[in-house]
This record gives sequence, structure tokens and C-alpha cells, in this order.
Amino acid sequence: MGYRLKGPVRKELLALRVRLGQLCSHDLVKAQHIMQEITVLSRTPNGHSHGLVVPRACSVCMYFGHTEQHCVVRKERDVQTEIEEEARRRLVLYKEIHVYN
Ligand SMILES: [Zn+2]
Repeated sequence: MGYRLKGPVRKELLALRVRLGQLCSHDLVKAQHIMQEITVLSRTPNGHSHGLVVPRACSVCMYFGHTEQHCVVRKERDVQTEIEEEARRRLVLYKEIHVYN
């Protein structure tokens, strides 16, 4: 905390994060290499690092670089589920109206 990354390093880190995000869980070795680079680049002058070393793939889409909470696949799936539930609710309501009236 309090340590700000300098421009060129920041750009390099962003590029590495993009590459990491394109890897799937079966690319674990590649992901580990990128994580290693990220860890080295984000090291503070006094040697502390603030990155995780072990890459974890998202449990929903199996891609690296984000967690389930930030997964677009999960978000889309949630929206789809909501739409389906709404359709089901409407159908139940429709049936109730037509059966009891
Ligand atoms: Zn995901």
C-alpha cells in the first residue's frame, strides 16, 4: 500500500493481466509463468510483493485473471436465470387468472 507503480511497469503489468485473462485452466503452467512475472514486476522497492503467486482459474468459466464474483459468464447466466424465472412467474400468474376466473 502507498507504493505507486510507475508508467512503463504499469503498462507491462496490464499487458500481462490481459494475457493471463486469455488462459484457461488447462494452461496452468503458462499462467504460473505470467503470475511469476507479475509478482516480480509488482514488487515494492523494499522487496514486498502484493500479488498472489498461485494462479487460480475462475470456477465458473475456468479462465484465469478474475474470480467468480467478477465473471462475465456468471453475470450473463444470472441474467438468463432471472429472465427464465420471470417467465415462469408470469406463466403461473396467467394460469391462476384463467383457472379461477
Ligand atoms: Zn469466469
